[in-house]
Amino acid sequence: MLTTTLAGSLPKPSWLADPRLQLFAPWGPPADRLREAQDDAVRLCLLDQEEAGIDIVSDGEQRRRHYIWGFLDGLTGTDTQRLGKKRTRGGRYVAEQEVARIVGEVTRPAPVMGPALAFAKAHTRRPIKVALPGPMTMVDTTLDEHYGQDEESLAMRFAALLNAEARDLAAAGAAVIQFDEPCFNIYLDKVKAWGIRALEAAIEGVSCTTAIHICYSYGIPRVLAWKKANTEWGQYAVTLPLLRETRIAQISVECAASGVDVALLAEARGKDILLGVIDVGTEEVESPALVAERIRKALPHVEPGRLFPCTDCGLVPRSRQAARAKLRALVEGAQMVRRELGART
Ligand code: ZN
Repeated sequence: MLTTTLAGSLPKPSWLADPRLQLFAPWGPPADRLREAQDDAVRLCLLDQEEAGIDIVSDGEQRRRHYIWGFLDGLTGTDTQRLGKKRTRGGRYVAEQEVARIVGEVTRPAPVMGPALAFAKAHTRRPIKVALPGPMTMVDTTLDEHYGQDEESLAMRFAALLNAEARDLAAAGAAVIQFDEPCFNIYLDKVKAWGIRALEAAIEGVSCTTAIHICYSYGIPRVLAWKKANTEWGQYAVTLPLLRETRIAQISVECAASGVDVALLAEARGKDILLGVIDVGTEEVESPALVAERIRKALPHVEPGRLFPCTDCGLVPRSRQAARAKLRALVEGAQMVRRELGART
């Protein structure tokens, strides 16, 4: 009941990547020392999560500069060095963004995240979640200079590669495989037309728990400005009933920093809800009491056994100090509500 977890990323130590450059910061250590530095950073992230008491942990995504590039770099036919420009996310946060390019046949010669999972498993006994980009978000965040096909065809191509990766990760002992699909909050017509089908292709036959993370993007200034001005928060009301018909087990939703009415979560009956109760866009640390209040608000709409207190999104833009404190608040807030529920039964 009220098992705690996080969306995925944690801030990188300054000796691994300059925190002032935030999301896509270049690596600090030279190439021949990078692997060792990443290993050390992963061990610290696991320790921070264990000390905080997080139940389902991640490697903090310490080995990827960007949540899409981390997977693309393991494929053939992609270029994450010479970037292209593209209107992404429907132009919601910025007119154009630099994106990786598709420059040849896209194949997956070997498991991409397998070695990282093996390392994390060797250093924690807790169940581990691995995040992969979702097919729709991969299409939106790449410039296709090779296939010249429609978005749906490219999404199905990515879905097949993601499925092979997810099956391998499940076989290698991942407890949860999560697909990050912020675009499911943006292109609602495409979600209906082919997004759900691409997701189903990605999770087909995957033997561990599968999850989808649908947020309103990172806690960075241009996104925060959009959130402040936004008044339409009904997107989950469209996507949750569609997801209910799929075999996805868990749905991760942003509820702390958004204007989403948690009553919408009733639309996901039968699924686990990873409820965002930690705002990732501020250094201000929530009190456990505030976290508990956010959890309680969702309880009339989600059974406690299906409610997983979680962060809204990745904590990568935050300071390490704030991120650690936010994880502790998350666990303490969940404990408060767990005690109340235990007392009632
Ligand atoms: Zn997110």
